[in-house]
Amino acid sequence: MRGVTVSRLIHPKPRLIHLRVDRNDAANIRRAPMRAPVRHNKELLSVTISAFAELGLTERLLRALKDAQYDTPTPIQQRAIPLLLDGMDLLGIAQTGTGKTAAFTLPLIQNLEEDGIKASPKSVRALILAPTRELALQISSSIRSYGRHLHIRQAVVMGGVAQRPQIEALRRGVDILVATPGRLLDLVNRRHADLRQCQYLVIDEADRMFDMGFIRDVRKIVGMLPEERQTLLFSATMPAEISRLSGEILYEPVRVEIAAKSIAVDRIEQHVHHLASAAKRDHLAKLLDEPDLEKVIVFTRTKRGADQVVKRLARDGVSAEAIHGNKSQNARQRALENFRNGRSRVLVATDIASRGIDVDDITHVINYELPNEPECYVHRIGRTARAGAAGIAISFCDASERSQLRSIERLIKRPLSIVGDGPVEAAASSDKRNRGGGHRSEPGARKRRRRSRRYDRRAA
Ligand code: AMP
Repeated sequence: MRGVTVSRLIHPKPRLIHLRVDRNDAANIRRAPMRAPVRHNKELLSVTISAFAELGLTERLLRALKDAQYDTPTPIQQRAIPLLLDGMDLLGIAQTGTGKTAAFTLPLIQNLEEDGIKASPKSVRALILAPTRELALQISSSIRSYGRHLHIRQAVVMGGVAQRPQIEALRRGVDILVATPGRLLDLVNRRHADLRQCQYLVIDEADRMFDMGFIRDVRKIVGMLPEERQTLLFSATMPAEISRLSGEILYEPVRVEIAAKSIAVDRIEQHVHHLASAAKRDHLAKLLDEPDLEKVIVFTRTKRGADQVVKRLARDGVSAEAIHGNKSQNARQRALENFRNGRSRVLVATDIASRGIDVDDITHVINYELPNEPECYVHRIGRTARAGAAGIAISFCDASERSQLRSIERLIKRPLSIVGDGPVEAAASSDKRNRGGGHRSEPGARKRRRRSRRYDRRAA
């Protein structure tokens, strides 16, 4: 955005900026009604700030963080919070599990509070767009928690639930609206929400918005906001479409990147079990006999697959529930709640539904089927090892999934450790036949088989 002048020390090394905001400047900055453009470094920033108290947050927010027992800001919080308090636009390349929600909600709440404006009826002062209902609810609960010592009026609008309470919540105007794009457009078009005074926009999980076909809606919504605003865009990956969108809607943004591998590679034990597709079901049941697997998310590629896994687990006496796009919002919330409070030990999820799953003590992630996009693997395993904890991810890989496995290993830049036997060649060819895969004359096929043998040696 239209940032403000801030006392800043730019070091000779171009990539390192130490940010120093003196108390008087900071107060003036945050009271400034109009924010003049500021030139700043668009490179990745490394900011040497270590504790929440040093980031410029007010006492009431610090108290809320203490209540939530957060001691140390995560890297994205360290980097983003001071810049956002200064009113800058931000492009955040980060995924769930990095603490990005607090990174954008804390400065947003503080900026709104310090602007001291009251929302007029039906109007929205800050808008947070999220791709899924779960993520929208999760963000809303973070706002509630971080804003508990302040008077922030917030509402959530999302599809799949009745409109009436959402219309009611908007009637008096809100400070922060968390919304999924389709329902919001609907409400704006029917004049239940007015975005013309909205000064802050956060687009969360932009790549997922794109995957789910929401980008046109997002563009329409952005077009309804005033040009003079602060805009933040978060995305785990940067496909061309998102890069284009960010170029269009962000004003001289600061780019803060938290590498996926810092989550996936560093803290999570990652194993692969090579097995035939038909053996997956029994293998899952056998793994779940182990008491160490206390709180487990099982990922499938399809909704139908998720339901089938739940049914089979029920037959084996394991309490499990599924969460996916065909379930009603209430059923999804119930399943999540049962999982969170331990009533069900296993949650079976598809990739889209998994985005808003925020449960801290997940011990294991099991990839019953490997995802087609390697980035999804990183998202999936990021459900464990949250907030600094360690975690274990186990992937089942049948013969038809070897290329997905290779893409994942390329992305995270290391092989998963093989448990048990290496790739099952005999079962592999039968899997391929069953799935119509395995074109023997395809030139890459032989290469793949050669690589598989290398795996065998490594496993031995
Ligand atoms: P997010 O990436 O925003 O989905 O956050 C991941 C999880 O980390 C959430 O459960 C947060 O409550 C938690 N969290 C975020 N920031 C911190 C922090 N500084 N210290 C401890 N936990 C945190």
